[in-house]
Amino acid sequence: MTEKKYYKGSTDGKQPLTGDPLAGIADAYDLIVIGSGLAGLTAANVIGRAGKRVLLLEQHYNYGGMATWFKRSGGHVFDISLHGFPIGMKKTCRKYWSQEIADSIVQLEGVRFSNPQFDFETTFDRADFTEKLVEHFGIECTKVEEFFSHLRAMNFYDDNTETTGELFERFFPGRNDVHRLLMEPISYANGSSLDDEAITYGIVFSNFMSKGVYTFEGGTDLLIRKMKQELVKNGVDLCSRVQVDRVLIENGRAVGVEALGRRIKSGAVLSNASIPGTALQLVGEEHFDADWIAGLRAVRVNNSSTQVYMGIRDGETLPWVTDLLFTSTRETFDSASLCDLHGESRTFSFYYPKTRPGTDRYTVVSSMNAHHTDWNALTDEEYELEKQKLAETTVAALEHYVPGISAKIDHLEVSTPRTFEFYTLHPAGASFGTKFEGLPFSMNLHEQIPGLFHAGSVGIIMSGWLGAANYGVIQANKVDAWLHSLQEVSA
Ligand SMILES: Cc1cc2nc3c(=O)[nH]c(=O)nc-3n(C[C@H](O)[C@H](O)[C@H](O)COP(=O)(O)OP(=O)(O)OC[C@H]3O[C@@H](n4cnc5c(N)ncnc54)[C@H](O)[C@@H]3O)c2cc1C
Repeated sequence: MTEKKYYKGSTDGKQPLTGDPLAGIADAYDLIVIGSGLAGLTAANVIGRAGKRVLLLEQHYNYGGMATWFKRSGGHVFDISLHGFPIGMKKTCRKYWSQEIADSIVQLEGVRFSNPQFDFETTFDRADFTEKLVEHFGIECTKVEEFFSHLRAMNFYDDNTETTGELFERFFPGRNDVHRLLMEPISYANGSSLDDEAITYGIVFSNFMSKGVYTFEGGTDLLIRKMKQELVKNGVDLCSRVQVDRVLIENGRAVGVEALGRRIKSGAVLSNASIPGTALQLVGEEHFDADWIAGLRAVRVNNSSTQVYMGIRDGETLPWVTDLLFTSTRETFDSASLCDLHGESRTFSFYYPKTRPGTDRYTVVSSMNAHHTDWNALTDEEYELEKQKLAETTVAALEHYVPGISAKIDHLEVSTPRTFEFYTLHPAGASFGTKFEGLPFSMNLHEQIPGLFHAGSVGIIMSGWLGAANYGVIQANKVDAWLHSLQEVSA
């Protein structure tokens, strides 16, 4: 996943455009979906399944958005965002995709923390966290129960001014080690920090605490292939290599899109591109109320990521370490430092043959949170050096857990916020959409431009595999109601 090496509009990303990616599509649809992230795909499937004509346009040659993968010579397949999600994804896939997809969702066998403050395995659920908090950290059991009950009772519509840091101080004052246990994995899962609204923490943490951490057996490539099959079965037209340039607006209403110089009409448009990109680039600020645009401009995008992909040579094996390892050499926890350019904290996802049953391959992917500004400020030469340094420090950190692994790696590659920006078009390569204040702009977009809807990582809560897929369903229901209202008018 190195940026600036693929051609939009080519089948394998290596050759310039051949053929017409829009060949065979109709002139008009009920719904056009811009982008094939999990929110876009799920919304398209829900509306397609309801018997409406749907067209989905994706600028990349692969579908899935951040839920994607890439292959490298030597037989390596690397997953980008298949590290773990809550059990809720199983129900979402069963209801809005298929039983078959849901059945491939399995629990991770191992999650481990390793840092100067604590080092243990956990099943990452309420029972185990309660035991850890009581036995390992010496917190009163009643306090732990009170904390969990408080999180469970948190409501999106309540007053949400308390930050996660304040919440932790209220329940576990001065306990930096406890704050680390509770926050670090969620910072990796949705980019939130101690300064974000506690509701964004509470919802995501509670989702994980219900039954632990899950993955898709077969890898992201299989998941997206099965989703594509389902979409085709439901009559959805799919085109990759098509970047939408504009949402067409007539009389203040969204009536289609323009892509590759072609205008395609539709009753509704649902954008899975970023919310700022949708409003400011695809629509244009002149179509919005000035104060709405001013508010949108003030929305902060979330942090981005770096990853190091380590492919293990064919024929080599790795011993069992764990599935997901949260590791840090930093003495104490400080959530802002998780994004440091030369950070001391990272996760490792270990992919054993069980990830893709029937294969005998191993890969390891390390992920860190990161600031786009840090990486974007570098010259090309500095950029290459920093990438090299990141690869080296990451492999050195991994040696601590798997001595001798360096000699087994035959593919080593780094992605940065610039890579994520390039492949998804998200401003600043944001991995998890916008901060909390972005949510109302996404949810109410259709009030500004009737017929235009947004679904995708936004407001921290609606991000991650589960958040994005569920948000796709929520917004699909709004699209459905809008399409019905159009039918009633024309009847
Ligand atoms: C490194 C990393 C690790 C992660 N790990 C996890 C994890 O372990 N668990 C988890 O639950 N979540 C994880 N996430 C987050 C999760 O992957 C995302 O929140 C989720 O996949 C986002 O889905 P989305 O629907 O918002 O769309 P995105 O995935 O952001 O996709 C948007 C799509 O729109 C397309 N697009 C944009 N503009 C246009 C245009 N003009 N025309 C056509 N197409 C366009 C893009 O190409 C892209 O395909 C991770 C993210 C990253 C970056």
